[in-house]
Amino acid sequence: EFGEISIKDLDQLARSSFPLCMRHLFDKYVFRRLFTFLLSLTLCVSLYAKGVGLRMEDALAFWKAEFSHKVGAERFDKEYAYSIRHNYGKEGKRTDYTPYSCQKIISSTPGVGDHHGCPYRHFSEENLRAALGRMGVGSRAMEDVVDKVRNRHYQLACTLTFEAVHSSSCDAGINHPNQYFSDSHKILQ
Ligand code: SF4
Repeated sequence: EFGEISIKDLDQLARSSFPLCMRHLFDKYVFRRLFTFLLSLTLCVSLYAKGVGLRMEDALAFWKAEFSHKVGAERFDKEYAYSIRHNYGKEGKRTDYTPYSCQKIISSTPGVGDHHGCPYRHFSEENLRAALGRMGVGSRAMEDVVDKVRNRHYQLACTLTFEAVHSSSCDAGINHPNQYFSDSHKILQ
């Protein structure tokens, strides 16, 4: 198990230990600042952040710093802070939500222009190959990953990616983005 992580570690961790789905969201929304703040996205990203141990106060500060220049601090506090607090179970029914599993992400249907979903399932082969290349997956492993995708074994494709980028086996397979992260963290520590 790992403890809480701080915002300043997030960038590094995204590069080393995020699965492709969360890396894609992180790149899209954090670095390129392409921003369509749909609730489903908020849910997806902040639940994941919660799962990796980001404290709610830090998550709020992070998203505020990222997005308030787009929407204004006041509107951020009014409209978006709620959904982040909601994800952490501090508003509404106060349910402490569990971050999405791979199965749930894979079976979701992202709309046009949305960036959530499982890249193994929802990316074109060309985009997937490019994304895998950026993660450092070599050509041989890439063919194995694409082969799994063609046979609709998306979680196995993610597992092979994990094994390729960590040069380490992952016998349990990938079932959850947070498991990908914690297994990665264990190896890289
Ligand atoms: Fe994310 Fe799971 Fe898809 Fe991997 S298999 S990219 S962890 S949803």
